[in-house]
Amino acid sequence: MIAVEEALARILAAIPSLPAETVGLREALGRVLAEPVIARVTQPPSAVSAMDGYAVRAEDVAEVPVTLRQVGEAPAGGAYDGTVGSGETVRIFTGGPLPGGADAIVIQENTESDGESVTILKPAPAGHYVRPEGLDFRAGEEGVAAGRRLTVRDVGLAAAMNVPWLRVRRRPRIALLSTGDELVMPGELVGPNQIIGSNGLSLAAFVEARGGEALNLGIAPDNVEALGRLTGEARGADLLVTTGGVSVGEHDLVRSALGDRGFSLDFWKIAMRPGKPLLFGTIGDTPILGLPGNPVSSLVCAIVFLGPALDAMQGLGQDHQPAMAAVLGAPLGANDRRQDYLRARLTHHADGRRVATPFDRQDSSMLATLAHADCLIIRPPDAPAAAAGERVEILTLTGGAIGI
Ligand code: AMP
Ligand code: MG
Repeated sequence: MIAVEEALARILAAIPSLPAETVGLREALGRVLAEPVIARVTQPPSAVSAMDGYAVRAEDVAEVPVTLRQVGEAPAGGAYDGTVGSGETVRIFTGGPLPGGADAIVIQENTESDGESVTILKPAPAGHYVRPEGLDFRAGEEGVAAGRRLTVRDVGLAAAMNVPWLRVRRRPRIALLSTGDELVMPGELVGPNQIIGSNGLSLAAFVEARGGEALNLGIAPDNVEALGRLTGEARGADLLVTTGGVSVGEHDLVRSALGDRGFSLDFWKIAMRPGKPLLFGTIGDTPILGLPGNPVSSLVCAIVFLGPALDAMQGLGQDHQPAMAAVLGAPLGANDRRQDYLRARLTHHADGRRVATPFDRQDSSMLATLAHADCLIIRPPDAPAAAAGERVEILTLTGGAIGI
């Protein structure tokens, strides 16, 4: 049995880093940027008004009221080509270019106009309500750094910078294979002693939420031949993920099926709960992650191992899913040598502290409690008993737009 950190380090060491591809902005959300977004335009391209009102020379309106002669208009997308002279003003609208000679905007609310002359009721110092050229960004400036997962805001900024194509990492192609004679797909006829195989779909959702492309190979029966043949279908994937069949029972055949096909095993047992049987190795160039069959174990192992592997493939750093601090809402007994991930509800104390209260039953077949949990409490190996109110580390399940 190896520790969680060591297992993760070994997985990450064997995971390929994927090349970049070019996509249009409409396909860029959630992708990891491979090359920085560099502005191709300056915004605003020249000084513009921040309000609807009148462009004036600040010195003309230092003493009010004062009446100025309106000599033209500067709407957004248009311009007043002349120069604003002493005693003159130009009607201007938000985004309208500041005419030559003017250096301040008097907002409409502080004026009275008869269409030809405008009485200014409040002074405006130089620069008032003027957005100088390049206030937002200048051509050549970096807008979004490489190595970042693109947010909705990043997409908006790239668009504003006139960068319609982005270089992003290719999506990791993850082949998924469930194993088990007892499994049928949701919607299929459920025979006696059969259950619904949920891992393929939950893992596909996980992979896609984390920027990957899931290729579902379906369900392999518990026989070495069929299992071996189906794993062969993973050719071309960046990673094959299997679920089930990696324990020590007679029907746990993944290792022997892979062994027949030149599989090189790295490890298959980790000091973790849920999820002691976890297999990792390679066939040819394809890394294989064998997750346990129990639905909670398979998803928790996906969170702990597959998520970081997907991030690494896409060139993301490993520090964006850090554990957070919380206090226990109920006491916990001493832990054994396996690192525990306990499903828990999260509430907030009046003083703002997070309170994590574990569910009473933590059986790894109970997918409903995982779906209802807000976080996982991480209990390190050999942690002593802990009273309610003691500090623990948690992984939240509800972050981001989708959560896990
Ligand atoms: P195994 O690791 O194959 O021994 O499976 C452990 C437990 O998880 C068994 O009770 C299986 O029936 C169950 N199981 C395996 N794969 C799935 C799956 N895809 N969906 C739901 N339960 C599963
Ligand atoms: Mg099985």
